[in-house]
Amino acid sequence: MITIDGSLGEGGGQILRTAVGLSLVTGQPFRMEKIRAERSRPGLLRQHLTAVEAAAQIGNAQVEGAVLGSPSITFKPGKVIAGNYRFAIGTAGSTTLVLQTILPALLLASSPSTIVLEGGTHNPHAPPFDFLQKVFFPLINRMGPQVVATLECAGFYPAGGGKWSVTIEPAQKLGKLELIDRGEIVRRSARGIVSNISKQIARRELSVVAEKLGWAADCLHIEEVRSPGPGNILMLELESSGLTEIFTGFGERGVSSEHIAERVVNKVRDYLASGVPVGEYLADQLLLPMAMAGSGCFKTARLSRHSTTNIGVIQQFLAVQIDCHPKDQNCMLTVRSAEI
Ligand code: AMP
Repeated sequence: MITIDGSLGEGGGQILRTAVGLSLVTGQPFRMEKIRAERSRPGLLRQHLTAVEAAAQIGNAQVEGAVLGSPSITFKPGKVIAGNYRFAIGTAGSTTLVLQTILPALLLASSPSTIVLEGGTHNPHAPPFDFLQKVFFPLINRMGPQVVATLECAGFYPAGGGKWSVTIEPAQKLGKLELIDRGEIVRRSARGIVSNISKQIARRELSVVAEKLGWAADCLHIEEVRSPGPGNILMLELESSGLTEIFTGFGERGVSSEHIAERVVNKVRDYLASGVPVGEYLADQLLLPMAMAGSGCFKTARLSRHSTTNIGVIQQFLAVQIDCHPKDQNCMLTVRSAEI
């Protein structure tokens, strides 16, 4: 059985999600200790527990230690059964991270699936729904499967109450993805999204975008969305010939709208200046499907600790060589099957 120390490297939930996801894909059982040891509330939170339970249901797995706060689990996967499932977190925990856990297995399943998810859809420290829909899934679809997501209702922290569904047409194997040149930026869009709070917040955020990035008025959009609780996010989308990237800021109590907007503007400036196609978050999320494909490459800025930690977990399950040169600046990441 594979044993994994959940406190290694970045020490967060991604170590668990990657291990569970690849355990379903490869059929290899694992034991993990010190789950999320580097986080302020370590162990399994509701969102992680839902992810483990969802994976256990889809993959007919036997699990020990799947209780709230648990610092360790043992996961023994069975046969993956695609189909229709509904998973509700019960809190505002991130539904996109629950999907991230079960998606790898469903991408290679023997028949299609439809998954309904309920909880948070736009959470700090997680991919917002729009990131999956417009950035990640289109790239997965270039690898063979067809994944289409629809948002029914947004869910923000702390009220939650979001709902979305995703259909997954699997492929027999994942194809090679190469993201080397970003190409010209062909579309820019800034969306100031509010739910149950003043549109003035979004207006202030967008005026910072207009001033600091010089984006024209027709790129700036205020959106009022339906959600049980209050929420605000600013999303800057950059579509190039190679892919779309999205940078997000989350409204926070006690932080001015201008400050939130400046943080996102700075992320966009860094991305534009770097010239690379793949941003920091997309980089750590692409590693797993590329490793499943056994080949692929992308240019990104210096790898995050999420990425380096994820590489270590992936290599415990799959015989892949993942190289990144040079290490300290913009780099080319390549994935190759170690068996070739
Ligand atoms: P962890 O912190 O270990 O739970 O992992 C968080 C995951 O969420 C990683 O895969 C990140 O790439 C992803 N993530 C965090 N923030 C964002 C964001 N603003 N946009 C897209 N993905 C994000």
